Amino acid sequence: MSDEVEKARAAKPAPGPTIFDKIIDKSIPADIIYEDDQCLAFRDVSPQAPTHFLVIPKKRLSSLSDAEEADQQLLGHMMLVAKKTAAQEKLDNGYRLVPVRLTDARSLCVPVINNGPDGAQSVFHLHLHVMGGRQMGWPPG
Ligand code: ADP
Repeated sequence: MSDEVEKARAAKPAPGPTIFDKIIDKSIPADIIYEDDQCLAFRDVSPQAPTHFLVIPKKRLSSLSDAEEADQQLLGHMMLVAKKTAAQEKLDNGYRLVPVRLTDARSLCVPVINNGPDGAQSVFHLHLHVMGGRQMGWPPG
C-alpha cells in the first residue's frame, strides 16, 4: 500500500478548522491562483503533474458525501472555476473534465474528487484536484 493510501486510510475528520480552512482565512500561506466569493484555487503542495492545483469551496463541506441539493450551484461553480483556472494556467493544448471515466488516454487535465477512506481522501474539506501538462493514464489506480 502506498504512503498516500495508508495516510488516507488512517485519516479521520477532526473537529476544528482543516488545513484548507486556514488557507481560506489566510492564516497559513498557499500559492493561490484564483479566488472569488465562493471558491479558491491554489497549487498542490505535493504536485503529481507539472500543473496540479486544487479547487475548494469556501463553505465548509467535509467531503462530496456531505453535499446536498442546495449545493448544486456551488459544485457546478467549482467545475467552472477549474475550467477558467486551467485556461489561466495555459493548459490550452486541450483538456477534459471527466470525473467518472476517460474515453481515451490523451486527456491533459483530469479532475479528481477523493471521497472517504476507499477514495483515499486525507483532507476533510471538499476539494477538486486538477492536473495537467503531462500524459495521464487510465485507470488512475
Ligand atoms: P491525498 O492526500 O491522498 O491526495 P486528498 O484527496 O484528501 O488525499 O488530497 C489532499 C491534497 O491536499 C494532497 O494532494 C496534498 O498534497 C494537498 N495539500 C495538503 N496540504 C496542503 C497545503 N498546505 N497546501 C497545498 N496543498 C496541500
